[in-house]
Amino acid sequence: MNYRFCPNCGKRLTLRPAGDDGQVPYCEACERYWFATFPSCVIVLVANEQQELALIHQSYLSDSFDVFVSGFIASGESAEETAVREVQEELGLEVQQLISTGTFWYPDAGQLMHGFIAYTKKAPLSLSDELDGAGWVPAAEAHRTMFPVTASPPAYAIYETYLKNENLKKKE
Ligand SMILES: [Zn+2]
Repeated sequence: MNYRFCPNCGKRLTLRPAGDDGQVPYCEACERYWFATFPSCVIVLVANEQQELALIHQSYLSDSFDVFVSGFIASGESAEETAVREVQEELGLEVQQLISTGTFWYPDAGQLMHGFIAYTKKAPLSLSDELDGAGWVPAAEAHRTMFPVTASPPAYAIYETYLKNENLKKKE
């Protein structure tokens, strides 16, 4: 979000030089800069010990299981805490190990995505009400339904990292 009015006092902001950052909106009443803000989210590939991925079905996207767990980072939470919480809330799974796969700027949504691989034990999925369905899919076959139908560069990059870490090749 690019600020035009002060979120504290409502006064119209002026532009003021802020070192290397150039012209930045500034509130003369509160004497502070308002740098642009954007949502931070997590996107989590969930894998079990049998090299299967827990994929979520969203009926507005396609007929298959094709998306990773994702969610917004709450104020006061670390990205790691959000990842563990979202896996628990959306699928009812306990994360055993969490690996960061880096961050991605997602231009379509104007969001910073924090990518993770979450290892869990294979267990029946207990879905949140927000989801239409989910299932375990062999990791080497997941690309058939995930891409390019819902082609998401962060998801694809995390998937590639997982395959490499596990020494898996995609089955065509
Ligand atoms: Zn102000």
